[in-house]
Amino acid sequence: MTDGMDKELLKRIQAPLMNWFEEYARVLPWREHPLPYYVWVSEIMLQQTRVEAVKPYFARFTRELPDIRALAECPEDRLMKLWEGLGYYSRARNLQKAARVVMETYNGRLPDTYEELIRLPGIGSYTAGAIASIAYGQAVPAVDGNVLRVLSRVTENGEDISKQSTKKSAEDALRAVMPSDCPGTFNQALMELGALICVPNGSPLCGDCPLRSLCRAARSGRQTEFPVKAPKKPRRIEERTVFVIRDGSHAALRRRPAHGLLAGLYELPNEKGSLSMEEALAWVADLGFSPIRIRPLPEARHIFSHVEWHMAGYFVLVEDCGKQAASSEPESFEPENSDIENSLIFIEPDVIRRDYPIPAAFDAYQKFILPEG
Ligand code: SF4
Repeated sequence: MTDGMDKELLKRIQAPLMNWFEEYARVLPWREHPLPYYVWVSEIMLQQTRVEAVKPYFARFTRELPDIRALAECPEDRLMKLWEGLGYYSRARNLQKAARVVMETYNGRLPDTYEELIRLPGIGSYTAGAIASIAYGQAVPAVDGNVLRVLSRVTENGEDISKQSTKKSAEDALRAVMPSDCPGTFNQALMELGALICVPNGSPLCGDCPLRSLCRAARSGRQTEFPVKAPKKPRRIEERTVFVIRDGSHAALRRRPAHGLLAGLYELPNEKGSLSMEEALAWVADLGFSPIRIRPLPEARHIFSHVEWHMAGYFVLVEDCGKQAASSEPESFEPENSDIENSLIFIEPDVIRRDYPIPAAFDAYQKFILPEG
């Protein structure tokens, strides 16, 4: 069934692939001006998020943080706010860590070799390859899921694409066949083909594909059998109860711990388990509040990569929580300061919207923070 990533075959994809890309490449903001910083930020955003969803985030991010110095110096809460909605916040933290290394070690200029790039926080082989080839014209591959899918189908390679060894053999094959005069365009063309034509989930658009006369899977009609991927472990289900705790003018927020899921972000107070209304009232009273009334909110779900939250929610009106209201500035976060992590703060809803990064997991409940009309 497989003879690996057949280099002789892959050599022949270059011309039709590049011609196709010249005609059909999407116009994307980071392609118009492929500055190293733009390529880097866009590739990090695109790791877990679709192109269309990334566009407005990329525009806002680069407008507010136009260069590596601005990114390195951005207050953490502002950075999280700019990332709010993209999820996987460790990507933003690593971006900033890397920006600080670049300021200290490379005088603010993103290094131009794959070997230096891959040593920066948050940059793996794919991103290092993308930056080095697209922004600096280095002949190194950039293998993501899109590229692996195309290569697996074209060569009918049956290796499990979730294995590092498969990625490595794809990188080796591409290194041997990619053009040295325009490696960035070649890499982008492969990614683009995977994103637009050789799409996942069983329905590649082979009739529109520039590689159809070369593609083994298309010839044998076995496109849907590739790529081969070992089934993922099922996600752990975690039940949680989320609280919207309000008085007349403030709502309660809490800061998550410095490590682990959604580290350091603000959240609506919540507790493990699915609490009944009586249990929920007791939980709020245990925090020292005097509940005036409580009502259930719709159930919601949120999917993380390894965990799935099944949430129950309650709106609880309490007496004057604003007595303890915090200033409108988010506190700077010191991971070792466990008091900040665990204590509630009380903020006006408009200020929450403007300044406090709240993860998308709480989207279903955020609207209840606003005063009832
Ligand atoms: Fe993918 Fe079909 Fe093109 Fe083969 S011919 S690379 S399966 S879209």
